[in-house]
Amino acid sequence: MAKMPRFADVSTFMRLPLVEDPAAVDIALIGVPFDGGTTNRAGARHGPRQVREMSTMIRRVNHVSKLAPFRLCRCADLGDVRINPIDLMQSLENIEQFFGRVRAAGTAPLSVGGDHLVTLPILRALAGERPVGMVHFDAHSDTTDSYFGGSRYTHGTLFRRAVEEGLLDPQRVVQIGVRGSLHDVDDLDWPLAQGMRIITIEEVYDLGCDGVIAEARRVAGDGPTYVSFDVDGLDPVYAPGTGTPEVGGLTTHEAQRMIRGLQGLDIVGGDVVEVAPPFDPSGNTALVAATMMFEILCVLAAAHASRGN
Ligand code: MN
Ligand code: MN
Repeated sequence: MAKMPRFADVSTFMRLPLVEDPAAVDIALIGVPFDGGTTNRAGARHGPRQVREMSTMIRRVNHVSKLAPFRLCRCADLGDVRINPIDLMQSLENIEQFFGRVRAAGTAPLSVGGDHLVTLPILRALAGERPVGMVHFDAHSDTTDSYFGGSRYTHGTLFRRAVEEGLLDPQRVVQIGVRGSLHDVDDLDWPLAQGMRIITIEEVYDLGCDGVIAEARRVAGDGPTYVSFDVDGLDPVYAPGTGTPEVGGLTTHEAQRMIRGLQGLDIVGGDVVEVAPPFDPSGNTALVAATMMFEILCVLAAAHASRGN
């Protein structure tokens, strides 16, 4: 039992030790406080700090799967990537280098953004020589080509870049919870033409949680799979603290069940992104994000342990 009360001491992710060397751990929890890829309402740079704070509420054992990630794997808080808030390309490089060191150590990363663009340099570091599959929770597909007359690196374009760069195998990508008004009727044609599987929120409710889980497992298959969780995939009643809220979204309970349903996939890393505390006076979005992070940590730890690392 913990001797220090959970409201005391310096906040780290899930009250884990703060460690510098990724080789000393199996799973690294990492903050990426960058929101320079945001196209509308910024603020996700403040995500990691508030998620650390609210993650002190998280205990040790998953009450459904009974997975105990801190027992299965050595987990630690690796601190934040040093980004440059006024230099997007430099920040992407710094993020890729940081996660490159993590991967070189054989350590699996689980990070908190930051806007969704931070996932691009993470995938650059993780994909290496083989593209990965992805289970992606989001109200948006994030596969627009460019914004503002040609800007290609934004939180709405990163997964098109990731497919173009060969980081993602589009046939092994499933996007869950997509909804919201489009820029154009053909917005989703490109990802569908690549073979990405989009489960809109309407189809989520037609399939039910178990149906969505079965479909996600079928698409991701046996290969290495990344889990990316944009909190705007949730309904804004649960996660108002985000830059691009869309009503009619997933409940927290549905998202938890779906993440638990990924146990057994070869999960190599994950993230929770788009937590923007300035839009959330109650702070609940950060608690929600910390809880989703714990759910991902459980299935990631199970995968990491089963690989014999
Ligand atoms: Mn997104
Ligand atoms: Mn989104």
